[in-house]
Amino acid sequence: MTSLGRHLRSGASRHIASIVILALAVIAASCGEAERPTLVGPEVAPADQLRRDNGGVEQATGTTGVLDPATETSTFADSGSSFAATGSDTDDPTSAAAGIEGAVRPADGGVSAVFTPTGVLAAVLGQTDDAYLIQTPCGFEAAVPLGQTLTSVDVMLDPGHGGDEEGAVAESGLTEASINLRVSQRTAELLSQRGVSVALTRTGDYRVPITQRAALSDALGAKALVSIHHNTPRAAESTIPGTEVYVQSTSPDSQRLGGLMYERVVADLAQFDVPWVARTDAGVLTVLNDEGVDAYGINRRPATPSALIEVGYLANPAEAALFATDEYVEVVSVALMTGIERYLRTQDPGSGYVSTPRSFNPSGATGGQSDCVDPALN
Ligand SMILES: [Zn+2]
Repeated sequence: MTSLGRHLRSGASRHIASIVILALAVIAASCGEAERPTLVGPEVAPADQLRRDNGGVEQATGTTGVLDPATETSTFADSGSSFAATGSDTDDPTSAAAGIEGAVRPADGGVSAVFTPTGVLAAVLGQTDDAYLIQTPCGFEAAVPLGQTLTSVDVMLDPGHGGDEEGAVAESGLTEASINLRVSQRTAELLSQRGVSVALTRTGDYRVPITQRAALSDALGAKALVSIHHNTPRAAESTIPGTEVYVQSTSPDSQRLGGLMYERVVADLAQFDVPWVARTDAGVLTVLNDEGVDAYGINRRPATPSALIEVGYLANPAEAALFATDEYVEVVSVALMTGIERYLRTQDPGSGYVSTPRSFNPSGATGGQSDCVDPALN
């Protein structure tokens, strides 16, 4: 999580930012090798891509910094049930709105997600003979050509922020969104080499609302969802890293996942000679709002056991300098891979658990759907 105030933008600047981000997304799609996943779809003629606002649930809050309320419904679930009710109807208005020609049916072979021609991973709602009906990162419906698909994964890695939500920004200019993605991509490579199937909720620099991140993880039946962040609030000097892992208050699996990652990440980062900062209650935490439920949507929404790790503090210039190095990316990625694999393959308990929940009430959190601009899909 980051300083929430940083994320609030005026309507005008957000609009400008959206245009800039759309342009950047196009540039990234055409030349950003580092932004592309290794799995991409085949070269086929792109289908029409039309957007349909399926509910605008997040927009109904009418605020600039979109709230992330516990009561909010999943737009993905809404669309899924809508599709299920109409999927065999050749006059299906859903498919018409998304630009699909022909009857939409449930995806062949239990396909849950597809990489679009630009490398974006999107949940699949159904298909025709030559196109998938997908839910875009922003939660809209669109059609993309048949491509590289996923039916399930062991682990979903979630690079925090992206697009116009850059997260914390170091004095050096290093953005949280970029370092979160670097660490996620390397951790995914390492897990794959260990025989663990893995996908990323965000494969480039674009916005993905929390609802979509959670829905994608659930749709792929992941055994673990790990959200990767770097912190920003000021904290006191510390002899060990101020790593924090937020876990689901109702899930022992989530807590064990968090404890195993925390244990290894702190031990491995401590080898760096850095003037760390930390909060006094740093460790493996549950963070609850005044209603007594998990304050962070990435913990509250998914059925998948999830843990959000704030590896360290971008607000601390010494840590930010470390985070910019290749050595850091490698060390933290190995630590995350090791903790996650241990969660999957053992019953080890982990450590670092803090017994007292932290109280937090997001008042202007990011991660909503309002003003969300999708990356290029075709
Ligand atoms: Zn963050």
